[in-house]
Amino acid sequence: MNWPGRIVLLILIIASAGLFLRKFVAALRIILAAKPDADFRLSPIGPRIRKVLWEVVGQGLVIWQRPLPGLAHALVFWGFCVFALVTANHFAEGFGVGFLSDGGFSRFYFLTAAVFALVVAIAISGLAFRRFVIRPKWLEPLSPESGLIAFLIFALMATYLGRFWVVEGTRAAWGLWWAHTLVLLFFLPLIPGTKHMHLVLSPITVFLERPGFSQIPPLVGDEDFGLDTGKDLTRITSLQAFTCVECGRCTEHCPANATGKILNPKEIILGARHYLQEFGPKSEEPLLGKHLSMEAAFQCTTCGSCEFQCPVGIQHLPIIVGLRRGAVNTGKWENSYGGELFVTLERHGNSLGFPASEREKFIEKNGLPYFDGTQDYCLWMGCLGSYDPNGRKILLALADVLRYLKISFGVLRQEKCNGDPVRRLGNDYLFGELAQGNLEQIREAGVKKMVSICPHCVRTMGVDWKEHGGTVDIEHHSELLARFRDRLPSDGGEKQSVVFHDACYLGRYRGVYDQPRDVIARFGQVVEPPRARERGFCCGGGGGLMFLGEESGKRVNRERAEELVATGASVVAAACPFCNSMLRDGLAAASANPPELLDVAQIAAAAIGKNSAGS
Ligand code: SF4
Ligand code: SF4
Repeated sequence: MNWPGRIVLLILIIASAGLFLRKFVAALRIILAAKPDADFRLSPIGPRIRKVLWEVVGQGLVIWQRPLPGLAHALVFWGFCVFALVTANHFAEGFGVGFLSDGGFSRFYFLTAAVFALVVAIAISGLAFRRFVIRPKWLEPLSPESGLIAFLIFALMATYLGRFWVVEGTRAAWGLWWAHTLVLLFFLPLIPGTKHMHLVLSPITVFLERPGFSQIPPLVGDEDFGLDTGKDLTRITSLQAFTCVECGRCTEHCPANATGKILNPKEIILGARHYLQEFGPKSEEPLLGKHLSMEAAFQCTTCGSCEFQCPVGIQHLPIIVGLRRGAVNTGKWENSYGGELFVTLERHGNSLGFPASEREKFIEKNGLPYFDGTQDYCLWMGCLGSYDPNGRKILLALADVLRYLKISFGVLRQEKCNGDPVRRLGNDYLFGELAQGNLEQIREAGVKKMVSICPHCVRTMGVDWKEHGGTVDIEHHSELLARFRDRLPSDGGEKQSVVFHDACYLGRYRGVYDQPRDVIARFGQVVEPPRARERGFCCGGGGGLMFLGEESGKRVNRERAEELVATGASVVAAACPFCNSMLRDGLAAASANPPELLDVAQIAAAAIGKNSAGS
């Protein structure tokens, strides 16, 4: 290229890079000006690197979640990686210092890039077709910028491929070279102002993700009330807000959104971003208002689907629960059911509002032993196992199975709610009181190992209590029973079909999918509903919503119950007393003749009963 051409090229590069940097640095300034994450630790670094390799470089999560569009996205990404060298060479050529020649490795590389260019052009056309013609609702609203970027990527590939059809040194070759250059230079400044910011930020966001699934960071000091104003947004939250690629995976899998509530997890993340862009991280403007809705924040069941699905490491639960904390701790949240739940827990220590004497009577009537330090396990009863008629049936069924397996157990003399509903609703003060009171009882009783019928108790006591010094070794009864499944009787005859409903707090939160199925498979034919395992659909009861209820849209439990009924199974199996309670109502509403609803422990206990009757 002649000197005037080179000067024009240099000016264009400087302008394009300058525009890119201006927008990028503005976003970076906002992120860095946010509050540091007090609880953040970089070590251990190995799992962080592995996560980046799997999720970013390998695009594993993207492909696993949505195989076809995921593969299309992965091909675009890998194509961009291959094009990095081609692009560097392209600009170098403009200044007469191209480093890829026409022979050997260079030729091979150009041809490889050509194959990628073809694949990327097809993949981006497919993605654009899906977004603008098929139009899945979670990709709404349509943004013209997405269309423009898709067109630019297509144009980049087409102008690269065109060079293989023109003779070098001709006007056509010169025109293609400049067309490719201009598309590149136009594309670059669009990155930081659009969802394509994820091209730059997502490796950092995935690397810096807070450890632990749906982990709620502890409040720090007396002045930390949760997410109330911009001052409470931390750097990692701000980084995540700027990384959202607006793919809508979180919204697609959100049970609240699927049943017509206003909660849209994508909009929660974008709301945080828009707040930061308008008010900044030092603002005292309330977060709940123009960009984020209090109603939406309190519609969340904390099922974790959104966080589980996000391909760029965005953690929704710390934000949603953080907003609840901010609203509850500053007295902005007014909800009669929520207020009643808090008062009930303060007065009675259990979420159902019964006097503790009712628990004692139940223990004595059913001959449950008290834990005295000699038994294998301390059986944590939980609010539902202690006071709810259906929860009690599950607990007694488990006690029967444990006796059959000759596993000794005892219950605590005193037990209060572990604090799960108030923790998820943002009342940290009450949560702390409940956790500390229970921890004292557990320590005094000399408990080593615990088992519970409730995945919410298992999660809260095993993970959330750590904030209050808890080191409780607790597992879910399905895990314990699965270890001893060979000692359980097996129904050799024709097995009835059992559809298993994955509890969010057992599956996504704890990674326990096979164990309850392994236990059920001894006695029944396990049937899978359309949304199962990692994609299991919530019962609607988590996050304190069992006590708040749903005021708009279809009820989540009804939606799930209809799906379970449609499998035609004769039994619905659950592994959580919350799910059991929600599905009981849902099944009654969904069918005049609903399948039987049983917990995994009840299925095992029934088989043991049959076995002993027959022996
Ligand atoms: S946790 Fe579940 S209910 Fe809450 S926003 Fe995420 S997907 Fe929706
Ligand atoms: S938060 Fe994650 S899953 Fe949701 S739209 Fe953004 S990138 Fe996609």
